[in-house]
Amino acid sequence: MRNSDLISAARIPAHISPLTPVPAFLTCNLQLQEVLHPAFISFLCTNEALMSARVFVAMVVVACSVPLTAVGQTPAGAPPAPTMTSSPLPTGRVTYRTYVEVMNELERIAKANPERVRRFELPHQSLLGQTIYGLEITHNVNASSGKPVFVMTGLHHAREWPTVELTMEFIYDLLKNDGVDPHFTALLDSVRFIAVPVVNADGYEMSRSMLVEQKRRNCRMEAGKVPTFADCANPANMRNGVDLNRNYGAFWGGSGASVSPAGDSHRGAAPFSEPEIQNMRELLASNQVVVALSNHTPDAKVLRVPSANEEPVPADVVPYDSLAQLLGGDLKWTAGPWPKIYYTASGTMEEQAYYSAGTFAFTFENAPGQRSFHPPYSFVIDQYFGTGAYPGSSSRAGYIRLLEAAANPKLHSVLEVKAPAGATLTIHKSFTMETSPLLVTDVASDSTRGAAIKFTQELNSSLAVPKGADHVTWHVNPSLRPSQHGTEFIREAWRLTCSLNGQSQTVEVVVARGETKQVDVSRCR
Ligand SMILES: [Zn+2]
Repeated sequence: MRNSDLISAARIPAHISPLTPVPAFLTCNLQLQEVLHPAFISFLCTNEALMSARVFVAMVVVACSVPLTAVGQTPAGAPPAPTMTSSPLPTGRVTYRTYVEVMNELERIAKANPERVRRFELPHQSLLGQTIYGLEITHNVNASSGKPVFVMTGLHHAREWPTVELTMEFIYDLLKNDGVDPHFTALLDSVRFIAVPVVNADGYEMSRSMLVEQKRRNCRMEAGKVPTFADCANPANMRNGVDLNRNYGAFWGGSGASVSPAGDSHRGAAPFSEPEIQNMRELLASNQVVVALSNHTPDAKVLRVPSANEEPVPADVVPYDSLAQLLGGDLKWTAGPWPKIYYTASGTMEEQAYYSAGTFAFTFENAPGQRSFHPPYSFVIDQYFGTGAYPGSSSRAGYIRLLEAAANPKLHSVLEVKAPAGATLTIHKSFTMETSPLLVTDVASDSTRGAAIKFTQELNSSLAVPKGADHVTWHVNPSLRPSQHGTEFIREAWRLTCSLNGQSQTVEVVVARGETKQVDVSRCR
């Protein structure tokens, strides 16, 4: 569809010419504020090229004509949503959040809980220039500490709105129960929880505002080119974009990802080509992420690697699958590797997290059975608690299980480091990873493959030795790395460096999962 067609498709009221100057539309600014991020509104209202563009006019008309009450209503074929005024969720919510609401809440939560919550910006803005935020939650959050990390994400896929809600409500749940329920209190003593509720900020804005409700991917319209808001908001372009859960580097370009930009699971032009996935790569590489979860909807599965046919049986299959099966029990869903219980997918979050750092990484396919990626809100509530439509299938129980797994030293490695007070410790690894041998076409019968791409992956994290201390405990990922080619580990070491007052000392430490190693770098002063 061309832009001129969009104009006629946009239900422009008869009294408004498509070429009416923008200021005439500013009366809809208030309504825009309900559905769009302020940065977008200011972008729309200040961009001269857009101001004069017919497509902008059409887009504003679309945005202003969306009845806000339509958002989150029962999709065709789904049972009617009960009328609710409050819910048992930690916030009592009964409707899906807008992107603006999520961003405002992250800021408010961090301000209200300075000892326990730190809001952070991810390093790369979205393609449309939005800053993406996450929260770190733990006791004494601003102190450097060697706690194991659990990373949880929502919304790789734009239309999967329940994943935002489940992540946000779990944040509130943790904070509400901390200091009240001894189990939650102990978990926040021992684990650093990192949440990124909206990985795909642009996609969520498009879907949640109903401009492109069934959007799955990000806003990339053409490889290597920065898209415009208008291009992404044009429903005719719904089938463009990169599938962010096919854009991670490990095994990128293999089975279960589309070569074609028009394919529903398009892998992108290169591994990590999208800024949203560069964010995730860097987050995973700069923390000791021992457990990770990517929330999706709506297929009732707990998934772990292998996700693509090109992968081996993972070297950690026994403990990794045991945890998957426990999660499957919490959710009453089938649990296991993608190709066996679901479909194949390459370039997924699990592959990158597991093969780079040995992170036990999973996907939850939440809120099943409603023939919708965002069913009526009552299904979010039922999914969170395992009540109503989903008896005994609780995402909350799965999240708590993952926090417990992160806290369990048998599932990661521990360094007991002797070092002088005030020193900075870093651990570092640099190694080569590979994509899949590249699919060349989307034709299922075509077995032609291009060579795999090799890329360098670095892992880097740091820890300060507190004043008055001569020792720190550092919960880390194993230094042994799971092979991408066989059911075995590659024998690598962490390079641990202690620096203080211009002096430094470096040692190499080989440590396996479940092992504790003593390290002495007390000579770095
Ligand atoms: Zn998804």
